[in-house]
Amino acid sequence: MATKLLYLHDSYLKEFEAKIENVSGNTVILDQSAFHPLTGGVGCDLGWLVKGDIRFRVVRVEIDRATKVVSHVLEAESTGLNQGDAVKGVIDWDRRYCLMRLHTAAHLIATVMYRDYSALITGGQVDVDQAKLDFNLPRTDREVFEDAVRKDNEDAAKRVELKIYFLSREEALKVPGVVKLAERMPPEERELRIVEIPGIDLQADGGPHVRNTGEIGEIQLLRIENKGKNQRRLYFRTA
Ligand SMILES: [Zn+2]
Repeated sequence: MATKLLYLHDSYLKEFEAKIENVSGNTVILDQSAFHPLTGGVGCDLGWLVKGDIRFRVVRVEIDRATKVVSHVLEAESTGLNQGDAVKGVIDWDRRYCLMRLHTAAHLIATVMYRDYSALITGGQVDVDQAKLDFNLPRTDREVFEDAVRKDNEDAAKRVELKIYFLSREEALKVPGVVKLAERMPPEERELRIVEIPGIDLQADGGPHVRNTGEIGEIQLLRIENKGKNQRRLYFRTA
C-alpha cells in the first residue's frame, strides 16, 4: 500500500509517529512518513527511526514511483524491528531546512531565467550545501546569471508567503494559470499539488518548500559550467 506522505501537507513536520508495514534487511516501510525521498531533483532526508530507547540512523530514503511506497534504509544491518511495531520518525531538520531553502530559491531562479532570458530548465539537483540547475541558453555570459540572481534576491526580500494546495484534475482545468499544469499531468494522477509563489511562480510540485521567501536568505552564485551546445549549468547556494 502507498505510504502516506506527510511532508506533502506540512514541510515543517520534524517528528511523526508511524507503524512499521514491512522490514526487509535494513530497509523499513512505514504506513506514513515525513521523510522526503530522493525525488523531483531534491536530495532525500536523513534522520532517525526511534523505538523505545533505541535510535536507528536513516541513511537513505527512496520512493517507488509506481507504488508510491517509501523505503527507509537504516545504517544498522540488523535492527530487531518488526512489522506492526510503533516507531517515531525524526527528521534531520538542519539538513531538511537547507534543502527547503535551496529548492524554493530554485523556483525564483527558474522564473527569472525564463521570463528575462527565455531559458528553460532541462535538469537540476538540490543537495544540502549547493544546488545546480541546467538551462537551455545559447549565451554563456556570467552577467546573465549574475543579473538573474540579483533579481531573485530582490524577489526573496519581498517576503512572499507561499501557497500550497491540492486540486483535482477537474478543478485544476477551471483555474486560469493552472490549466497548463493540469493538461501536462499524467492521466493516472487524480490530484495536483500546487505550489504558488504569488506574483512570481506557479508549479505542480511534490517537494518541500519554505513558507515565506524571506526564509531563503541570500542566494549566492557559485559557478557556471558550459555543458555543451546551449546547455549551461548554474551552481548556487544560500547563506
Ligand atoms: Zn518546488
